[in-house]
Amino acid sequence: MINTPFIPGIYNYCDRWCERCEYINRCHIGSDDKVLQMELKMELAENDEEEQNIIFDHLKNSLSDVKNLIKEQIEISGKSWQEFLKDIEENPYVPPAPTKHQEDLESLALDYGKWVSEWRAKNNSYFQEENMMALMLSSEKNPERLIQEINDAFQVIQYYQFFIGAKIHRMIHGKLEHWEDDDPIQNDWHGSAKISIVAIEKSQKSWLKLSNFFPDLADSILDNLAWLDRVKRGVLKEVPDALGFVRPGFDTNANYPMD
Ligand code: SF4
Repeated sequence: MINTPFIPGIYNYCDRWCERCEYINRCHIGSDDKVLQMELKMELAENDEEEQNIIFDHLKNSLSDVKNLIKEQIEISGKSWQEFLKDIEENPYVPPAPTKHQEDLESLALDYGKWVSEWRAKNNSYFQEENMMALMLSSEKNPERLIQEINDAFQVIQYYQFFIGAKIHRMIHGKLEHWEDDDPIQNDWHGSAKISIVAIEKSQKSWLKLSNFFPDLADSILDNLAWLDRVKRGVLKEVPDALGFVRPGFDTNANYPMD
């Protein structure tokens, strides 16, 4: 039996929100010093531009690590890096074309992300100090707890607003380009479909919380919920068994693989 604290492949079908992840110490990526350092630097960043530069630097370094890994694999296969590049140039890959439903679903999911930004800008006045003070005075909740719950709901919505579209993009392309001998359910596009549904459901819960706190916004929030529901139904139409996919760690015994 393998005696390792790490859960193989757990990072493939998670939401990459490492600072909130209960498996951070059991994940190769989450416990990677580079990721932890990046998160620490982001905490200390003074503005959005600084945060973006930190993310770009991290991605640049990660891509360089990936390139080195690919080079290693190519060398093991007996080819040189130049031969590999020549092969790609001479036999360019032509991806299969998506169906109309797949195109519409991807647009719907990507537009949701943009729409959330517009919604936030349009309703910004509701979240200004004056309104928040009035809300705290009229609520029976502890003011600190109330603000924490509102912030948390916003963080969840913002975190997933573009994540959902990205995962659906991966799901569609995974399905189009799958291998014949892939497992019918434990495969990449089912995993991507499942994590997109997890993100949709968490976003919907957060929208509902906001709707309770801000009844004046309930109608427009209802539109956002319906939008997400259409995306979810679209995912399940494409991948009906998405929820049957078992995500390593999250959907398995947490002690795996140490017991
Ligand atoms: S499994 Fe958890 S720690 Fe690992 S990459 Fe995903 S969110 Fe981060």
